[in-house]
Amino acid sequence: MRRITSCLVCSSDDLSRSPAIVAPFIREYALGGAGRPEVPTQAVLLTCASCEMDFYDLRYDDDEIAALYAGYRGERYFALRHHFEPLYTRKYNDNNGRESASIDTRKRTVQALVTEALGNTTITSVLDFGGDAGQFIPDFEGAARYVLEVSDVPPEPGVTSVSRLEELEKPVDLVILAHVLEHVSDPVALLTELMTAVGDGGYLYVEVPLDRPKLPPPWAVRLQASWVKTVTCNTRLTVAVDAVSTPVRVLARGRWIPFTFPRLHEHINFFSPGALARTLERGGWHAVAQKQYDHSTGLLGLSVFGVLATREVPATEPPAGQGSP
Ligand SMILES: [Zn+2]
Repeated sequence: MRRITSCLVCSSDDLSRSPAIVAPFIREYALGGAGRPEVPTQAVLLTCASCEMDFYDLRYDDDEIAALYAGYRGERYFALRHHFEPLYTRKYNDNNGRESASIDTRKRTVQALVTEALGNTTITSVLDFGGDAGQFIPDFEGAARYVLEVSDVPPEPGVTSVSRLEELEKPVDLVILAHVLEHVSDPVALLTELMTAVGDGGYLYVEVPLDRPKLPPPWAVRLQASWVKTVTCNTRLTVAVDAVSTPVRVLARGRWIPFTFPRLHEHINFFSPGALARTLERGGWHAVAQKQYDHSTGLLGLSVFGVLATREVPATEPPAGQGSP
């Protein structure tokens, strides 16, 4: 992992710091094993005063991303994660992203946003970047459906799997990037790269969870730092505190609870609607529509935020027929 010291979205140095731990599962599964001395136990959650972005100072390297997502939610992933996090159940592992109600909600939401923005134009091709088996791609009639997925999940019938953007025969009308940006080390670079996948007048739909960690009040930051230090000196204590952190977060319902702290896990970036807007802007995209809605994901029923964006600068002139003569 590498450490960054300025904002990954706006480059500001005006950052506040909150002590955090690296989840034991992540150390073992993605970082090469807790026994290795160079594998970090502590991280810092940074909050940017300028763009509202929350993110960890530690960023995954390409090989760590590959280790984390190649067999995502497969047997080894589940066994190790359940070992460190006993409340991470088989049912949750196998159902996540497979529940028909949450698939339908996502598909309907994306389709409604795109249809409203498009007017009479039709979508002829869609790429779901990081889209699992392609089950979340909305039903645009006759549209070619592609999925680019780093895990080894086979695509659904009718969905073509590509392993790189260059494998697309031509740019697509719509790229979906849902629940990906919170995982990646450089969100702005990914958004910039995706411009090559979208044709003229095409769209990008980005969706992120609104699940920013609850930060301690200023008076508690030093206490929290001592507590993080104490916990991370003892492997068994780290595992115990880590294992109960998710239920505590659920029960806390938005409040900060003493003796809890953020843990670096798969999510390393936490967006507010404003921070996502800034990130899209930096990646060269222009937002045209947005929607916040509830997305059921088992234990953590959470709110998600979706933005539809284009490469083109939206026209500022009134649409034909509505302007002055
Ligand atoms: Zn910033």
